[in-house]
Amino acid sequence: MWGEQRVPHRCNRHSSKSARVVRHALAGCLAALLLAGLAGRVHAEDGNQPHKKQDNSASLRQLYEQIGRKTGLRWQQLAAIDQYERTLTRVRPKSRPVAPQALTGIYISETRWAGELNPDPHDTAPLSIAWFGGIGQDGDNDGRADPSSEADLLYTVASAIRAGEAGGTGEAGQTSAAVGDRYAIGLWRYYHSERAVLRVRQFAAIIDAFGSTRLRKHVFPLPVTAEYSYRSTWGDRRGWGGRRIHEGTDIFAPYGVPVRSTSCGIVELKGWNRYGGWRIGIRDIDNVYHYYAHLQGYDNKIKPGDVVQPGQVIGWVGSSGYGRPGTQGKFPPHLHYGVYRDRGTVEWAFDPYPLLRKWERDERKSQRAARPSAGR
Ligand SMILES: [Zn+2]
Repeated sequence: MWGEQRVPHRCNRHSSKSARVVRHALAGCLAALLLAGLAGRVHAEDGNQPHKKQDNSASLRQLYEQIGRKTGLRWQQLAAIDQYERTLTRVRPKSRPVAPQALTGIYISETRWAGELNPDPHDTAPLSIAWFGGIGQDGDNDGRADPSSEADLLYTVASAIRAGEAGGTGEAGQTSAAVGDRYAIGLWRYYHSERAVLRVRQFAAIIDAFGSTRLRKHVFPLPVTAEYSYRSTWGDRRGWGGRRIHEGTDIFAPYGVPVRSTSCGIVELKGWNRYGGWRIGIRDIDNVYHYYAHLQGYDNKIKPGDVVQPGQVIGWVGSSGYGRPGTQGKFPPHLHYGVYRDRGTVEWAFDPYPLLRKWERDERKSQRAARPSAGR
């Protein structure tokens, strides 16, 4: 009964603003990009270990465009592949040794690069690599296929994906949908993983929408001016509606308080779940899945595959869940917020509490800064 039809006034209000919302989405995330660039830092997962990495986005963009011209892939598609690889490298640094100063996050094993039967695993000669069935290619035209060259790495992945796209189907007169499908086939043949294909395509959609990969702006999931309370409950057995155990933070608030996307991202899932009630899942460009549960209803306009911006209202606080679709009121209204990091084959929950505190603090601070000084 607490379906989407319960909140038509909000949805109408939203729809009349939809064009503005899109512009805001772009402005919000690009502003974040600029700020992150100026401050020379990137988002840290737990909010207390800022990365020292400098902003390489201009050089990266150049590299994507250069390899894009050579391979016929769009720079956004290359950026999505690189971003996906980067998220894997970040969670599996031991099995994916990528140089710390590397621009890209791409990793290709020695045997895949040089060829399984190649007696020289560090072979950089394109001809002998090809002879032994390796995939290593020369992307910077220096005559060597060298995995320590970023251009060679990216060109190698792109070429392998383009080669995987070909074959089997007619190439002439393809519609743009078929071209998209070919890209998916190329990705599948390269990664042999449905999940990888899905992620790269999700990231490409996000990058298409925002024109950038540096989308680190985050906000607290409820308006910080709303009435709410929460505390650290990581691993608490008595929480409501975790995906498996109680993996997340419960933010208690009255019915109808807006729930906002905490990040730029793409809607991955929306619907009823026995424990989570009406819930929505949003994937961000760092491969973190944000899970919002027990909603009273959603913004009707939002559907899986849509790109959202931080602060965009996605639904309203409720108490749905713990029963068949529509069940509500079995516990006090609250937002269950969970975050899950994709590790390639499994997803691991991590504690959102430190992030929530940080986003709340940052937002309060910027609101104070923006507010004109009150009367003396
Ligand atoms: Zn909960």
